[in-house]
Amino acid sequence: MDETARSLIRDEVRAISAYHVPDSRGLIKLDAMENPYGLPLELRAQIAALAAEASLNRYPDPGAAALKARLRETMNIPDAMELLLGNGSDELIQILALAVNQPRAVLISVEPSFVMFRMVAAFTGMRYVGVPLAVDFGLDVSALHAALREHRPALIFIAYPNNPTGNLFDEDAMHALISAAPGLVVVDEAYHAFAARSFMSELTRYPNLLIMRTLSKLGLAGLRLGMLIGRPQWLTEFDKLRLPYNVNVLTQRIAALVLQHPGVLAAQAAAIREGRQRLLAALQVLPGVQAFPSDANFILFRVPRADAVFSGLRSRGVLIKNLNGSHAALTDCLRVTVGTPEENDQFLSALQQSLLQAA
Ligand code: PMP
Repeated sequence: MDETARSLIRDEVRAISAYHVPDSRGLIKLDAMENPYGLPLELRAQIAALAAEASLNRYPDPGAAALKARLRETMNIPDAMELLLGNGSDELIQILALAVNQPRAVLISVEPSFVMFRMVAAFTGMRYVGVPLAVDFGLDVSALHAALREHRPALIFIAYPNNPTGNLFDEDAMHALISAAPGLVVVDEAYHAFAARSFMSELTRYPNLLIMRTLSKLGLAGLRLGMLIGRPQWLTEFDKLRLPYNVNVLTQRIAALVLQHPGVLAAQAAAIREGRQRLLAALQVLPGVQAFPSDANFILFRVPRADAVFSGLRSRGVLIKNLNGSHAALTDCLRVTVGTPEENDQFLSALQQSLLQAA
């Protein structure tokens, strides 16, 4: 890097490695927690008609009123709560950090968890503290409370269920954390559709609680739509940091249309949950594989020689996520997204061959 870049670009930005998205062309794509099922043909035809008549020469509705109304109908949002939309929930994580990053402000998450929490802290110049999870991937309650006392975080992110471990955390531990937190607690429910529990109804109880959701895992990752739900006193402030037209015309209109048929995505989520249980059972009986139970649409598992197994899978046409080396607790761990039954079978057979080859 030349001298000018060194002097102009912030140290913490130069220190970040870019969020890496591997090339998946020609591969069975089970690396990014996408819904493997496309939309029904009839709905696709309606989307095509809607796209054809949409006014792409006009800016989108900056407040996305129609889409917000539809989301309220489908998401059990308590009446007193406000809704803020983002270009994916990634953008909302960034808006939250921008809003609170006063000098020395701290952002806390658990580790291992979604890497964007740590990355956004670096983007915005916040101090980041990652509190390790317990060995069973549960919350380490005493470590978390010690971190609250020591760092007084302005912002805490808890993915619930957690990525990449797949588990929901103990409910009592979550309540204790939200009660004790001196700042905001964001419960990131990106994988809500695959889990039996949610903190949405707790918003009325805790003034410092915010809930984040996304349509990405549900089946609309390509549209990029994330949602933050919480008290108007907070969301009014965050909304000032949202760039005016962050949710584009097509996303607003297509998401609202698909949400008019909530049964479609709900049925796909049910199929994914069923596929998850079958995949987990199959992984748990494979010799040498330690598979962790999941409340999400992916499964974390440990194998001997994960790097070799990951490459073996890719050479057999299956792309999953290699987490080996990303965190001490994830040594030799891989993460597979639940696909269609056929994709899951192809993955399992490629895995068996790759395990034999790597042995
Ligand atoms: N939160 C968690 C826990 C995630 O795992 C992800 C995506 N991997 C996101 C948020 C980001 O989702 P989006 O597509 O809405 O930006």
